[in-house]
Amino acid sequence: MKPNSNLCHCGTPKPFTDCCTLYLDNNQTAPTAEALMRSRYTAYTLQRENYLMATWHPSTRPTALGLAEDASTKWLGLEVKRHEQQDTDHAIVEFVARYKVNGRVHRLHEVSRFVREDGQWFYVDGDTN
Ligand SMILES: [Zn+2]
Repeated sequence: MKPNSNLCHCGTPKPFTDCCTLYLDNNQTAPTAEALMRSRYTAYTLQRENYLMATWHPSTRPTALGLAEDASTKWLGLEVKRHEQQDTDHAIVEFVARYKVNGRVHRLHEVSRFVREDGQWFYVDGDTN
């Protein structure tokens, strides 16, 4: 498939203006853990560290991500495998993200945990395999 720059980076067949930019730029709250996960992937592709920090649960949030220093990473695509709502405020999202560093393609397969507090979803942590 040929990448279309008008389509959102997160892999949905929606234009960017109707997708992750709502959460990244328009202060809308992601309605599901999957929507938050997709918007966080898009934030990685755009090196939007502030957004990644703001959507990371304070209990597990790193002090910095250093995305600007890591500019050699090129994100290639996201595939959401599973979205499991465990109860009202807890969910799991399994995904595969592909990226390239120095010409080599890598695959990140992660099962991520999300929690909702005061109506907002946060990334907590994840298991990679
Ligand atoms: Zn999107």
